[in-house]
Amino acid sequence: MQRVDPRATVTATWRSRQTQECLIAAAAAGDKSVHQPAAHSLHEIGLAFDVSATPAALAVGHALWQQWGGAAQVAGDAVHFAPKIAPGGLTAEALL
Ligand SMILES: [Zn+2]
Repeated sequence: MQRVDPRATVTATWRSRQTQECLIAAAAAGDKSVHQPAAHSLHEIGLAFDVSATPAALAVGHALWQQWGGAAQVAGDAVHFAPKIAPGGLTAEALL
């Protein structure tokens, strides 16, 4: 990823419940910089991270992430990387 965008940077990893609630409130208030936050996020249990990078670098990163077994890119949230969760498997809601 950094060969495509040397400035690619991890911008978020674990976040608190309070931070998730602030993101939900910001989205509800119309903040377009916040992608529709879920009621609970894998960030809250340290299983997701976000990367700031060019679209080309993010595409390379997501292709590699999926080769490693990670989840596919979420539409509209290209910066987000999370593990693949089997149906009925681990969820943030179950662990919080
Ligand atoms: Zn994320």
